Amino acid sequence: MNKIKTRFSPSPTGYLHVGGARTALYSWLYSRHNKGEFVLRIEDTDLKRSTQEAIAAIMDGMNWLSLNWDEGPYYQTKRFERYHFVIDKMLTAGTAYRCYCSKPRLDHLREEQMARGEKPRYDGCCRDYVHNHIPNKPHVVRFRNPQQGSVIFEDQIRGLIEFNNLELDDLIIRRTDGSPTYNFCVVIDDWDMKITHVIRGEDHINNTPRQINILTALGAPIPAYAHVSMILGDDGKKLSKRHRAVSVMKYRDDGYLPEALLNYLVRLGWSHGDQEIFNREEMISYFSLDAINKSASVFNTNKLLWMNHHYINSLPAEYIAAHLAWHLEQQGIDTKIGPSLADLVKLLGKRCKTLKEIADSCRYFYQDFVAFNSDAAKKYLRPIARLPLEMVQAKLVAISDWTCDNVHQAIEATAKQLAIGLGKVCMPLRVAVTGTGKSPSVDATVHAIGQNRSLKRIDNALVYINKR
Ligand code: GLU
Repeated sequence: MNKIKTRFSPSPTGYLHVGGARTALYSWLYSRHNKGEFVLRIEDTDLKRSTQEAIAAIMDGMNWLSLNWDEGPYYQTKRFERYHFVIDKMLTAGTAYRCYCSKPRLDHLREEQMARGEKPRYDGCCRDYVHNHIPNKPHVVRFRNPQQGSVIFEDQIRGLIEFNNLELDDLIIRRTDGSPTYNFCVVIDDWDMKITHVIRGEDHINNTPRQINILTALGAPIPAYAHVSMILGDDGKKLSKRHRAVSVMKYRDDGYLPEALLNYLVRLGWSHGDQEIFNREEMISYFSLDAINKSASVFNTNKLLWMNHHYINSLPAEYIAAHLAWHLEQQGIDTKIGPSLADLVKLLGKRCKTLKEIADSCRYFYQDFVAFNSDAAKKYLRPIARLPLEMVQAKLVAISDWTCDNVHQAIEATAKQLAIGLGKVCMPLRVAVTGTGKSPSVDATVHAIGQNRSLKRIDNALVYINKR
C-alpha cells in the first residue's frame, strides 16, 4: 500500500480557529498513527481575501500546537503554471471545453430556473457546440461533468455517500480572467502531492463528487475522504467569533497550555473508550477515523478549563514555568528578583485554572505594591493586629535559615505566645505581605516572597495601622 499522506489546507483569510485546528490535528494524527506524511498547503487563490498576516497566524497556531508538517508549506498561487498545463491538456482531450456564454445569457438562464423553482445550473449550451477557439473572445473553461450515473464514495466517518451526476453541472475550472478555480486547484494538488486521505470539514462534502469526477477524468487515483462534523457553541449555534475566543492563539493569550487545547480538541468529536486525558503518544497510537463522531460537537469551555488545570498540575513545573514566563513578560513583570517560576507553579497551580490566572495573582512576588486592597486592609490591618505583626516580624528577622518550615514555626510561636488563634496572625500577615486577602498558605507565601521583602512590607503595614 502507498504511504499514507494527509494534508491540512487552510485558506488564509483569517487566523487558525479551533475548528481548523481540530481538522489539522486529526489529519496530523492520522498520518502519524500510520507512519505517513503530513503536508501543509496554503490555499491562497482567493487573492482578495488571502493575507500574509493570516498565513503567519495559521503557522503560529500550528507551531504553538506543535503540529509539524513534513512537506510544504505549498502555496497554490505558486502553482498556476501547473494548473494551466493540466487545463490545456484537458481541453485537448475533450474533458474540458471553452464556454463563451455571456453574462447576460447566464443571468437570464438563472432567473428562469429560479422562477421555475429549479436549482440554478449551467445548461450545457457550449458543451457540444463545436466551435473554433476565438482567441480574443472572453470565455471560461468548464469541466465536462458526466451526465449519467452517480458518484459514490465511502466517507471514512459517514459511510456511503452518493450524488447523482445530474445534480452536478459543468464546473468552471478557469475563469474569464484566466485564473483557475478553487475546486480545480484542490484536485490537482491532492493528485500531485499524492494525498491518500483527505480529512476536512463537512462543509466540503458537496465539493467531493465534483473533485472525484475531475480526478477520474484525469486518470488520477481517488483519495479516501473523511468529513469531520462542525463544532457548535454551547448555545447550539455554529462556533464563531460570538463565542469568545475561537482563534487558537487567543487561547494561548488566555492562559491555556497547548497540551490542554490539543487534548480537548482531540476529544471534541473523537473518543477512545471513556478515556479523557491523552498525551501526544497516546493520541497517536489510539487515533482512528472510524472513532470520529458523525454528529456535531458542542464546545464546552468548562471542560477545557478542567483539562488545563489538570495539565498545569501534572506536567513538570519547569515546563509550565516556561509558558508562564511568557505571560509575565506580557504583563511587564520582571521575574529576576523573586521566587523561581517553577516554585510559583507549585504554589499557585492548584488554585488556578489558567496561566493567566497564575500571572494575574503573582505580581506581589516580584513587585512591591503601592497600596493595600482597601477591603482587606480595613478588615485585617487594625490596631489589634499591631502586636501579632510586630512579634511575628521579630521572629522572622531572627531566622537565619530561611525555610518554609521556619517561617511556619515563627507564625505558630507568635500565636501561641499571644494565646490567640492562628488566623489572628495569619490574616494580618497575609495582607501585609501580599496587599490582598487571598494567597496560597501564608507560610509558603512569605517564604516565596523572601525575607527582606516580607520584613519591609510588614513595616509598611505597621505604618498603615499607626495612621488609622
Ligand atoms: N481551503 C479549505 C478551507 O480552508 C479546505 C479545503 C480542503 O480541505 O479540501 O476550508
